[in-house]
Amino acid sequence: MSSPEPVPGASGRGAAAGSRRSAPLGEPAPLSPAKEPANPVPLCLYVHFPWCRRKCPYCDFNSHPAGPVLEEDRYVDALLGDLDFELSRLRVDREVRSVFMGGGTPSLFSPGALARILEGIRARLTLANDAEITLEANPGTTEYADFAACLDAGINRLSIGAQSFDDAALATLGRIHTAGETVRAFRKARGAGFRNINLDLMYGLPAQACEGAMDDLDQAIALGPEHISLYQLTLEPNTVFHRYPPPLPPEDEIARMQETLLGRLRLAGYTQYEVSSHAREGRQCRHNLNYWNFGDYIGIGAGAHGKFTDTAGRVQRRARKRHPAGYLALAGTEQAVAEIREVGGHDLLFEFFMNALRLKDGFALSTAAERTGYSGESIVHVLAPLITRELAFRTGDRIACTDRGYLFLDDALAMVLPDREAVAARPRPDRQLPGPAIGMARP
Ligand code: SF4
Repeated sequence: MSSPEPVPGASGRGAAAGSRRSAPLGEPAPLSPAKEPANPVPLCLYVHFPWCRRKCPYCDFNSHPAGPVLEEDRYVDALLGDLDFELSRLRVDREVRSVFMGGGTPSLFSPGALARILEGIRARLTLANDAEITLEANPGTTEYADFAACLDAGINRLSIGAQSFDDAALATLGRIHTAGETVRAFRKARGAGFRNINLDLMYGLPAQACEGAMDDLDQAIALGPEHISLYQLTLEPNTVFHRYPPPLPPEDEIARMQETLLGRLRLAGYTQYEVSSHAREGRQCRHNLNYWNFGDYIGIGAGAHGKFTDTAGRVQRRARKRHPAGYLALAGTEQAVAEIREVGGHDLLFEFFMNALRLKDGFALSTAAERTGYSGESIVHVLAPLITRELAFRTGDRIACTDRGYLFLDDALAMVLPDREAVAARPRPDRQLPGPAIGMARP
């Protein structure tokens, strides 16, 4: 997911003026141990699938080329064992509002396997009656997909990785599919009854001009998805493109693309609600909204991340082993856990800002106080440099970035974070991996 702006922040263009030292913080309001929070933090579930047909050269996600045999049953058992382990360690007393099956390429798995995962989840957790259940599906893996069976299993939202509708660009990106396959996958899903579909699209592709990016977006809009996620291609460390950079469009062309694409999305009735996310009325991704509102999520699967707030208000981040082989061997045991980290104090507040300021509407001070333990007053104090420079504004109980602050979000965040590297290094839960700040493509 990325920005209209998507992007300036990520590429470092247009740095906003101002100090990058931390602003002084007020003391957090005392949290009463063992006291039930007045409003329990909303809870979601992320399930990671670590395999793809092959690795795309721009991808820094936890994805690995699938061998000739997909260990489907073994992986489903591992996921459910992992969930059992997690539930034995966390006191989960809340219903789960959404499930997101992401990757990797979850659509490599059969509907039967996906159904078994969802049955296992329902047997172990209480899903909300109206829970949003998303499956990421990559064209090229959906030829034989039984979308009706996916609906029967309870999946009610699809996120299709279109990326471009230009076959030459798709080949450069190392994608396994053609534009025709994306269109067929979309129509097949619609025909089966899916009424909530996202298309992922990228821009700023090698040698792409603004007209090419517009053509991609027009073809996406013509399909009529409920949601479009628009990301700028960026060169991430540990990728083939980072080692052998392709010729990317110049920055002024990227800026022209962003402006033009955003205008086109608005005209077509898609409202931007997050840096990279555009939705028709009422079709925002509830799962990702929970990340950006600093809700809780349990993460299962190779490399999955979780965030959990206990009844005393303590926040813990948890991560699984990344490599599928190690994960398969150890899932369901303590050894599959790669990291457990308590997040508190200033770190917690900064992580809140990094998520909540991505939202066009920003956040309510009352929510920030609930999720971080800091008083509304101290939060306003920390963000004062942004408000003074008109990078953020306050209306009543809410604080959000101004258009300029949103355009240069990384720089705005850097003004209240210790340093710019810290912005880039913080976990990006919407990507389910630690990674760069803004403007990266999803699978
Ligand atoms: S970009 Fe998506 S499809 Fe390509 S390797 Fe990464 S996760 Fe797999």
